[in-house]
Amino acid sequence: MNQKKSTVLIIEDEPPIRKVLTISLESAGYKVVECDNGREGMRLAASIGPELILLDLGLPDIDGKDVIAGVREWSQVPIIICSVRNSDDEVIRALSAGADDYVTKPFNPEVLLARILANLRKAATHEAGEPTLANGGIRMDLVRHEVFMNGKKIIFTPKEYELLRYFLVNRGKMLTHKQILKEVWGAAHTEDMQYLRVYVRQLREKIEPDATIPSYIITEPGIGYRMETVTARMPEVLPEALQA
Ligand code: CA
Repeated sequence: MNQKKSTVLIIEDEPPIRKVLTISLESAGYKVVECDNGREGMRLAASIGPELILLDLGLPDIDGKDVIAGVREWSQVPIIICSVRNSDDEVIRALSAGADDYVTKPFNPEVLLARILANLRKAATHEAGEPTLANGGIRMDLVRHEVFMNGKKIIFTPKEYELLRYFLVNRGKMLTHKQILKEVWGAAHTEDMQYLRVYVRQLREKIEPDATIPSYIITEPGIGYRMETVTARMPEVLPEALQA
């Protein structure tokens, strides 16, 4: 790979965790800059311009959520939160403050690296501003407002299209129920969980190879949904000639 190394900024106050993170990221080819408090983290975010930030929420000086808010005043750099288990409320608040994703401690290094890659890819697509969104077998033409599944055109209602577009734009990213409702249905509907359930079910019927075992739109219990980044593959449907 002749790609420039992406720089990841780690803001974490516990030295053993910082060390583990640094080792796994460096061995995966990332350049790592680390610090142990929120203020220095914000300063570094501005001075080195990392491609991604890994942020602990419990920091000695300021709250991790204030770091997110501070960075978001001027940057859309992907921020992944490192949280302790069973702190759904914390995670939801951090996602609402502008974080992109989260991982729970103790880390599964493979999951962490996959999340980092998904968030870097998403950020790269945003910059490119392509008129097409794609993920696995799904291709959305933003100019013609058409969606193709494994090359076959699928009809979506306007709301389904908007919801699918929101998932595609944010693929790889954890989205809370409230965020989705606010973005797709508007600020007055952030409590209308039933809308969301119904529409997610409809989307799954149209895009999932098996709607009972979703591979695109994953439920994150108690928090919301995530569209997984799916690698392109052969069409699920056999050519008609082979189906008889
Ligand atoms: Ca901590």
